[in-house]
Amino acid sequence: AKAGIAKTCLARSREPEEADALDRKGLLDDLADAIEARAITWHWQPKIDLRSGVVTGFEALVRWQPGGCGNVSPEQLIRVVEQSPLIEPFTVLCLDTVLGQFASVQDDWPGTSISINVSVRMLERPSFVENVLSAIECHAVPPERVVLELTETALIAHPAQARRVVERLHRQGVRLSIDDFGAGFTSFGYLREFTIDEIKIDRSFVSRCTESTFDQSLINSLVVLCESLGVDLVAEGVEDDAVRALLVSLGCPSGQGYGISRPQSFENLCAWMRKWNERPHPAAAITA
Ligand code: C2E
Ligand code: MG
Ligand code: MG
Ligand code: MG
Repeated sequence: AKAGIAKTCLARSREPEEADALDRKGLLDDLADAIEARAITWHWQPKIDLRSGVVTGFEALVRWQPGGCGNVSPEQLIRVVEQSPLIEPFTVLCLDTVLGQFASVQDDWPGTSISINVSVRMLERPSFVENVLSAIECHAVPPERVVLELTETALIAHPAQARRVVERLHRQGVRLSIDDFGAGFTSFGYLREFTIDEIKIDRSFVSRCTESTFDQSLINSLVVLCESLGVDLVAEGVEDDAVRALLVSLGCPSGQGYGISRPQSFENLCAWMRKWNERPHPAAAITA
């Protein structure tokens, strides 16, 4: 019956070709099983202070290997989940898994936060605020250490709805980040409407910034904007040390990317953290 409802949703979806292709593989049934079995996992990517190398947080990124039918990218997975009744159990599993793991290390790694991606459809669910607050309470994670990443599209397309949700969570201390900044229909209006704690510069402006003076100017003006608004600025897609050094010289405080660490399983991340923190301080630091 679950799959029946889900299939109806898929039939009405905006991208019928892709949805049909995924549906034909019986993915929704597999997905429902995977959620039940907690076989969907989240990889963790560290975020650092670019200058000192100190780890300031992590982003949780979903991973799923359906048995037999190849790979499903996180984007595809999220699109399918959003169009199906599985959206709510998926959101609950995400919050429970990620906050549960974070709770197990939060005392060992002071000064870090955990970032969770939230799509518009998830935010729209009437139970979303409750789901977030009850996961936070259940795992005893300080709400100040939880960051929700939203894209500009969510805030622009559904301003009233998004605002109510964000404000309720904000009042409890949860922080808000704008993901992929600059990649969509950037409008500065919502920076005034919402209490934003962090902006993540889309990696399209970051990964080639050593070759593009336009990208450098853009990053530089975001540095100034964020400083004066009191917003944290994070560069996504820091793929090598040259980019990291340039970002430092442009004044960008934080970053994440393959050049620092790829997203990795929670177990591997714990080992990575031990090694990273053992590095003599200057080795992880960049002096520019
Ligand atoms: P995002 O939130 O913008 O996440 C950053 C994406 O860039 C991730 O892709 C990450 O693996 C990748 N990345 C990180 N560093 C680098 C780098 O240096 N170079 C390059 N080329 N890529 C880098 P991923 O894991 O495939 O996720 C794609 C998108 O799927 C995410 O974009 C996010 O929008 C969505 N997503 C992932 N997990 C979740 C989730 O649990 N819930 C929701 N709602 N969306 C999710
Ligand atoms: Mg993100
Ligand atoms: Mg992003
Ligand atoms: Mg993205």
